[in-house]
Amino acid sequence: MPLSLEKISLTTLFLFSILLGFFFLAERKEEQWPLVVSFLDVGQGDAILINYQNKYQILIDGGPDERKLMRELAKTMPLGDHQIEIIISTHPDRDHFVGLLAVAKKYHSQAFFYNGQRTNDELWQELRQVLERQRVSQYILLEGSSLKIGQDFLLNFFNPDKVDKGLQAKNKNSIVARLDYKQNSFLFTGDADYDAEADMIFDKENIDDIDWLKVGHHGSQTSTSDFFLARVKPKNAIISVGKNNYGHPNPEVLEKLTKVGAHIFRTDKMGTVSIFCRQKCFATK
Ligand SMILES: [Zn+2]
Repeated sequence: MPLSLEKISLTTLFLFSILLGFFFLAERKEEQWPLVVSFLDVGQGDAILINYQNKYQILIDGGPDERKLMRELAKTMPLGDHQIEIIISTHPDRDHFVGLLAVAKKYHSQAFFYNGQRTNDELWQELRQVLERQRVSQYILLEGSSLKIGQDFLLNFFNPDKVDKGLQAKNKNSIVARLDYKQNSFLFTGDADYDAEADMIFDKENIDDIDWLKVGHHGSQTSTSDFFLARVKPKNAIISVGKNNYGHPNPEVLEKLTKVGAHIFRTDKMGTVSIFCRQKCFATK
């Protein structure tokens, strides 16, 4: 049975941190780019690979297509590494999780985090079953959880603040995470909408001054409110979007992002967008 917790305990995360601490002490030498964050070109959907120390990977969402995701992972995963330590599904919409079926079958993983949203989607049930067969521990992840690796890497989770018992997969319940690495910050928003953005502001989450924003809901006008933008003030904005989409990204959202001075990256125009970090992060090597 998958281990399902109301809220992943800090103890569990602490143990993860300790384990990983030992893991990295054993590491021979620091890689040239200790952190690479890749916004994978999976068509109309989201899939983000965080590769830390070239040894430890976190995959946030898997896009709508198993073949496309496997193709992009083959290019971005370290050679010979068949382990993606943590898989995070921001919410059970098909443009975010279908690709994870292939990952669950072909890569080893230690933990699968999701938002606890109920859905009747049979592909979602299949994903959960494959993970169970592969003995991947499954946890519900809520606001207030965090994951620290060594001194420099900290992931904080801001959304959702409770498990939604409703059947509809709502963008409002998307898992939102902030990654801080040295002086650099990333905000991964899934499909979080205006409601979720307002909720995070109300809850006084630290969404301020983000260097690299994954724009919510593929640049749809249901996300990226003025209030949210005024707090986030992104220096760079990455839009994960396909060529045949639903009118994403919205022209007004693009205009708003440009107005706050964000440099815009789009996976439909540029393919996979990778951010390389040492002391500072860059969009090209
Ligand atoms: Zn989506």
